Amino acid sequence: MVLPVCDVCLKSGMLCQGCEKKLRTGEITQLDLDIAKILFKVGEGKIGFKRTIEIGDIVIIVTEKDQVGKLIGKSGKIVREISRTVGKKIRVVGENSDLRSVARDILAPARISGINIVYGTDGDQKYKIRVMGEDSRKLPGRLDVLNDIIKQLTGEETLVVVDRD
Ligand SMILES: [Zn+2]
Repeated sequence: MVLPVCDVCLKSGMLCQGCEKKLRTGEITQLDLDIAKILFKVGEGKIGFKRTIEIGDIVIIVTEKDQVGKLIGKSGKIVREISRTVGKKIRVVGENSDLRSVARDILAPARISGINIVYGTDGDQKYKIRVMGEDSRKLPGRLDVLNDIIKQLTGEETLVVVDRD
């Protein structure tokens, strides 16, 4: 598992020509760099990620499925450290995960009560994701932002709604 920046750069704290070019051309962002530094330090080179998506005050870190737990850390320790450093909320999602697991990871700690397919007036299919009413305050962001994030990760149109008790 690799980080988007090379080991040499992470060790020295300075960017080599290759990584400097990646940053300049936008292949990686300053945020990727900051997160890579933290993971390199706390993960002893064993924790990596593929890419990040930044929407509003939420940063999604996409990693391999089997790395999600490691990246979150014991009781969320690593994610908390990243969040403190970059000043944003952090969500970790496994690469190529299905809609249900992506929705669960993005909406956490709010819990999902159900997902079903709904059809718009134009006949377009959408997934309606219902969040437990008592968890409405635990949602990490605005509903439109959350729908946007899930779409970027899965390609599916979603409609996140909160159950009314
Ligand atoms: Zn480098």
